[in-house]
Amino acid sequence: MKRIGVLALQGAVREHVQTLESLGCEAVLVKQRSDLEKLDGLVLPGGESTTMRKLLNRYELLEPIRTLAKQGYPMFGTCAGLILLAKDLVDYESHLAVMDVVVARNSYGRQVDSFEVKLDIPEIGPAIPAVFIRAPHIVSVGEGVEVLAEHDGKIVLAKDGHLLGCSFHPELTEDTRVLEYFVSFMV
Ligand code: GLN
Repeated sequence: MKRIGVLALQGAVREHVQTLESLGCEAVLVKQRSDLEKLDGLVLPGGESTTMRKLLNRYELLEPIRTLAKQGYPMFGTCAGLILLAKDLVDYESHLAVMDVVVARNSYGRQVDSFEVKLDIPEIGPAIPAVFIRAPHIVSVGEGVEVLAEHDGKIVLAKDGHLLGCSFHPELTEDTRVLEYFVSFMV
């Protein structure tokens, strides 16, 4: 059984845990350094990236997670989690800075804070429901990064080797295909 950690400092933690368990994985809440031991992968959920960064500092998790990412450990950042992974952020200091993408926060305007669309993602499948909540987007990707989905001319899902990042919340729908795709990284 795959043991996948879910960073559990803030945000949509429970929904990721439920989805991972429904896929037959063991989901481990990561709140301190020792929780990172013996995991096959890690999910960084959506929420609020500035708050998460403060908590990552407080619980001394930033460096250990960065080290694991550099060692090739599979990680999936959704929404605020994508912001944490990005090498560079527009107008903000970066956090883990491990995924070779530039990300802009709050990209979809004030009046449309939240919406759902269906995305056709060739690598994963057709009509995948994607919930965007004050969502970021990927402005540019480095060499070797695969762009997997776009919405409205903006990159919303990309893969940099073992690192996957998306603008939306795949865990807030019944459709588990995006999480399944991430789990398939772990052989
Ligand atoms: N706007 C949030 C941020 O900048 C991300 C929103 C989300 O994770 N749903 O951190």
